[in-house]
Amino acid sequence: MKYYSTNHNSPDVTLAEAVVKGLAPDRGLYMPERIERLPKEFFDNIGEMSFHEIACRVARAFFGEDIPVDRLDSIVCDTLSFPTPVVKVEPGIYSLELFHGPTLAFKDVGARFMARILQHFIKIGDDRRKVNVLVATSGDTGSAVANGFLGIDGINVHVLYPKGKVSPVQECQFTTLGRNITAIEVDGVFDDCQRLVKSAFLDKELNDRLLLTSANSINVARFLPQAFYYFNAYSQLKKAGAGESIVMCVPSGNFGNITAGLIAHRMGLPVKRFIAANNANNVFFNYLQNGVYEPKASVSTIANAMDVGDPSNFARILDLYGNDHDRITSLISGTTYSDGLISATMADCFDRTGYLLDPHGAVGYRALKQLLLPGEVGVFMETAHPAKFKDTVESMVNTTVEMPARLYAFMRGTRQTIPMTSEFSDFKSYLRVC
Ligand SMILES: *Cc1c(COP(=O)(O)O)cnc(C)c1O
Repeated sequence: MKYYSTNHNSPDVTLAEAVVKGLAPDRGLYMPERIERLPKEFFDNIGEMSFHEIACRVARAFFGEDIPVDRLDSIVCDTLSFPTPVVKVEPGIYSLELFHGPTLAFKDVGARFMARILQHFIKIGDDRRKVNVLVATSGDTGSAVANGFLGIDGINVHVLYPKGKVSPVQECQFTTLGRNITAIEVDGVFDDCQRLVKSAFLDKELNDRLLLTSANSINVARFLPQAFYYFNAYSQLKKAGAGESIVMCVPSGNFGNITAGLIAHRMGLPVKRFIAANNANNVFFNYLQNGVYEPKASVSTIANAMDVGDPSNFARILDLYGNDHDRITSLISGTTYSDGLISATMADCFDRTGYLLDPHGAVGYRALKQLLLPGEVGVFMETAHPAKFKDTVESMVNTTVEMPARLYAFMRGTRQTIPMTSEFSDFKSYLRVC
């Protein structure tokens, strides 16, 4: 299968090239040339299939031509070493819990999958340059990618994060690992980190010396596997007798997660509509209202993994629907919430239902409460474990949040970081000696 750039100004590439390059030379994002509609028989039987069976079937539709099927199946099963259960919160509203992975956030799925795909292509390739993964993070990407790649031979990972803008728990998940993982503390905001990474990919001198690749959600090997759990959620709802008029609600930042859901929809997943739930970063929300896309600087919120002012995957959404605002708004609606509303939602949901939300999931839950119509079944993605935001959650909700053991393990490690300005020349000097 070939992959094309959303800017249509650079050559189509193979999967291996798309995974290694991350971003296309014309600054577009890669998209698969075909999105296969899965047969009716698959959806008829999906309620009886395991998560691994469902995910393997979905993975083959994209990667089956490029990776031997046995190898692909084992990559999929290895990636999905944890469940993604659907939990009923109240009548008509379900939580798709995506936080049961090693770093307690949904990005574990994409990061683990990408690490294994990249390793596969490096092993069979003949490029002798050292592979360096660059990743900008506003919080959870860094830990998921660092842990997904930890100890993988022949690949070094550099995690760029904005100084003072990620929670202490998030920070220790990528600054304490050592081995092939380096944490870089940038004096700036998330968008500066993202800009440094993008500039490195476009720098000829660096790319001649190093094989640079991205593990941000722009990478096809990170964002496509997120489609797996949308199918699995449908399977669980179907089994529970709630498989009709499904609305999937995705707390969104860079819009990689929801784009994977939209691709699942294109593959035939019977979802009635989607909601992109945002915090105060409302660029996509404004686009839905008036058709104008106006990137802005990101603002800091308590749902900080969604603090994005120029979501990368917007280009993919436009591409999927041929730039047609009407098509987009007929399938996707949006919401935007202040920190005050997010906090009130966490408290209210816990008081009424006993279900503890994290600030990101709270944005999704609130959007369903606001926009769900009679007869619809709503599922929101609970994208992180509340313990990752223990202090925030405990200050809003009258309860104590238990720390899972795997979080404690990170917090006991020694923090190691490299300080960096937001000037590209400084970052380039650092990479030159890698
Ligand atoms: C990354 C992240 C998001 C946003 O996901 P996108 O794919 O960037 O839209 C939401 N919640 C949590 C906890 C995250 O880590």
